[in-house]
Amino acid sequence: MFNAEISRALIAAADLINTAEGLKSAKHTPDTLNGVDGLKTFLGEREPELEWPSSAANRKQLEKVRDLRSSLRDIWTSAPITEPQELEKVNELLQGVGTRLVRGEEDGESVFREEPIPVSSQISDVMTATIAAALAHLVVAEETGRLRICRGDDCETAIVDLTRNRSKLFCDFGNCANRAHVRAYRARQAALKNGGASSNGRTAARSLSKPSAAEKAEELSRPTSASAVAAKEFRDRMRNELMQKRSKKAKKG
Ligand SMILES: [Zn+2]
Repeated sequence: MFNAEISRALIAAADLINTAEGLKSAKHTPDTLNGVDGLKTFLGEREPELEWPSSAANRKQLEKVRDLRSSLRDIWTSAPITEPQELEKVNELLQGVGTRLVRGEEDGESVFREEPIPVSSQISDVMTATIAAALAHLVVAEETGRLRICRGDDCETAIVDLTRNRSKLFCDFGNCANRAHVRAYRARQAALKNGGASSNGRTAARSLSKPSAAEKAEELSRPTSASAVAAKEFRDRMRNELMQKRSKKAKKG
């Protein structure tokens, strides 16, 4: 979907957001970035290509990384980015971040690519530059809709959808996708039962059957709570506006 650096940075950003306390797949999880050791562990678990050494953790950096975390959560919860004020949140992270061109390698082939230059060599600045550059790429490509909060009930997990068909709606922390399926299935069973009280045996037989693949797919795209319904309506509206803008642009050009 995106090049390896960008994907890596976005996954690390979502992982950073998810170190905050909150509900993950209906389970309460504590803040794991609550001390220098927490930051050390977080950095140590990242992909080595990021070059975020755990030895860089100290109290001052911890505070700055925590600030970065809350900025990122803001960006994630307001995505897709369609308004100028939302853009400012990414611009704030980009403040002072430079760019240099380097020769790199991708799938065994030599390529040129842009590399962010952080404000300083402090780990919080290095992290900010890497993530901000990836977010900037996403904004320009109009792909910020890929920054999501898990659609599962009682789940606040930040996710990055790196699938080709934008189909990732649930986190991998617990069984959010499964819970949503079961819940939708039960709701459908209850509706059939209530609506089919006076009907014949055919309806009753149908209510006992398992959901088809098509029904499952439909359930997947159906939000599962009131707030999710509102969020989906909002996203759909934003998407429509974006499509209109694009078609206008296309007509002009
Ligand atoms: Zn989830």
